[in-house]
Amino acid sequence: MIIVMQRGSSQPQVQAIVDRVHELGFQAHLSVGEERTIIGVIGDERYLTEGEFTLMPGVEKIVRILSPYKLASRDFHPQDTVVPINGCSIGGNRVIIIAGPCAVENWGQLSETAAAVAESGVHVLRAGAFKPRTSPYSFQGLGEEALEMLALVKEQTGLAIMTEVMSPEQVPLVARYADILQIGTRNMQNYTLLHAVGEAGKPVLLKRGMMSTMEELLMSAEYILSHDNNKVMLCERGIRTFETYTRSTLDLSAVPVLKQLTHLPILVDPSHAAGKSALVPALSLAAIAAGADGLVIEVHPHPEKALSDGPQALKPAVFADLVARARLVAESIGRTL
Ligand code: PEP
Ligand code: MN
Repeated sequence: MIIVMQRGSSQPQVQAIVDRVHELGFQAHLSVGEERTIIGVIGDERYLTEGEFTLMPGVEKIVRILSPYKLASRDFHPQDTVVPINGCSIGGNRVIIIAGPCAVENWGQLSETAAAVAESGVHVLRAGAFKPRTSPYSFQGLGEEALEMLALVKEQTGLAIMTEVMSPEQVPLVARYADILQIGTRNMQNYTLLHAVGEAGKPVLLKRGMMSTMEELLMSAEYILSHDNNKVMLCERGIRTFETYTRSTLDLSAVPVLKQLTHLPILVDPSHAAGKSALVPALSLAAIAAGADGLVIEVHPHPEKALSDGPQALKPAVFADLVARARLVAESIGRTL
């Protein structure tokens, strides 16, 4: 961190900053110019906030050198993290597709969808048991009953299971059934939940908050990583912009940017971004071309009857066709699917 003093700041003001830097356990490196003095703070600045100095007399501005996250940073861990999930892995050369219905609605719907996605060569089934709905009057999910159905479908198909956990109290229950704990967009900054999934030690798919920056996403990942749980995957699922044609705006630039900033696997959920099934195939292919390690796609055998997110769900045949085309894109950039 660099502290730039105002032009004409006094020697006692500079000394007060240096004393404060030492008090906080850091070293100060002074550069006294003709016009102004600059103080370099030496030490791990992630343990410092700008606020320690901004209000001190004579300070003009503070410039951070390092990112505020550490464990999530590629500087700290240059190699890509690969998360093993039940016989497959996410973050390696192979692009992974996680697919399934928005929510578990009943056994027939779940087993039919699971059979269809397994047939397409998918390894992980997604389906919500606890649903974060905008309206309290909408279908909220079947809860534990849905988790039991997911366990049964896993036994029958061999698919790994990803499902959302909405509160710290639910973590032990959901972790008994899920291979991947999903943190939804609305909970990206629910810090008690992040601590709880970090402690659970299971793989976590952390979705980007719909109004969060990439740095905020990485800071949330840092919470989970700080519990020694390194099985964290990030998911771009669209952010809120002025555009209303799509449900959210898929920020594809997040893929190459996050790939530079972090070693964690990056997935893309085109379904929740688009909100319209017709847009999902193009966004999926673009996400793979941009370097995503995987996709999260909603599939429903009868989207018109779905209890949640029907308009964005792909029918199994459309999904199967998409997987075939996604494989071609993956292979064209030297990856497999
Ligand atoms: C979901 O995956 O079903 C979901 C609710 O996603 P998001 O949190 O991205 O809206
Ligand atoms: Mn959904």
